[in-house]
Amino acid sequence: MRQRLIKKTDWVRLKKRLTAVILCLLLVMTVAVPVKAGTVSEGSSLRFTKSVKKLTAGKTYQFRVNTSEQVSWSVGNEKIASVNKSGKVTAKRYGKTHVYAKCKDQKVSVLLQVQGKKVIGIDPGHQSRGDSNTEPNGPGSSTYKAKVAGGTRGVSTGKPEYQLTLEVAKKLKQQLWDKGYQVVMTRTKNDVNISNKERALLINESGADICVRIHADGAVSSARGATVLCPSSSNRYISKLYKKSQKLSDALIRAYCKETGLQSRGISYRDDLTGTNWSTVPTTLIELGFMTNATEDRFMASGSGQAKMVKGMAAGIDAYFGY
Ligand SMILES: [Zn+2]
Repeated sequence: MRQRLIKKTDWVRLKKRLTAVILCLLLVMTVAVPVKAGTVSEGSSLRFTKSVKKLTAGKTYQFRVNTSEQVSWSVGNEKIASVNKSGKVTAKRYGKTHVYAKCKDQKVSVLLQVQGKKVIGIDPGHQSRGDSNTEPNGPGSSTYKAKVAGGTRGVSTGKPEYQLTLEVAKKLKQQLWDKGYQVVMTRTKNDVNISNKERALLINESGADICVRIHADGAVSSARGATVLCPSSSNRYISKLYKKSQKLSDALIRAYCKETGLQSRGISYRDDLTGTNWSTVPTTLIELGFMTNATEDRFMASGSGQAKMVKGMAAGIDAYFGY
């Protein structure tokens, strides 16, 4: 009985000590946290009073920080945006960059997303191997066509159409990016298997404003010139987009032929094209020229020829949007 009482007293003492230790620990923690927070707050006293996280290519925005002292402004990537001495930011090309403001030993930044002024879908026609499996040539259609046709080939250069279309598409993408557009490509390699329907859906779902499909022609050796293929007003799938598609086709072929000097064969109205019929955005298909015509084949394969082709197409897209 006596032994038990002693033990009980010890236990009470131990409890008191433990409580004291815990209280001390809590005190240290509550004191330590505000000290740490105070340090951080002091370091970040320079802050933006005006800033944005998104800006469309071609637009400007005046960034500001909370100081009247000398601020040095800069950006992480000059290709995406630029900033002047007073913090006025100009969005240039689709992409991301940091905007920095530095004052004495303090530096703050904002990650800026530059959005394209428009989104352009580009489909480089064909692929290294065609796919003869079939798919409906429009939503709900009972007409089935090959998923991807083989394409033509240069009579002089031997270059296959799928290679030419990808070369030109990549250069067009670069040029459009330089002009402030965002570009979505259906393919960036030759060794793929993407059907015409899948290509149209890919562009539709990307949020693209328009779709430009790139092909080259094949026929008898005397045939020459460029053509644009456009859905007609009676197209049962996308007749609503006929006017815009026609405007796009017209703008594209005019600027393309003006820049390249190739003959214009004008607009050809086609309602049998799978890639056109599945589109839910204004769409056109350009036949760049005839690969079966030796002169046009060599022109289209050359670096100088491609530079003109791409410049013309980009100018046509600008004209369609009114830039
Ligand atoms: Zn083709």
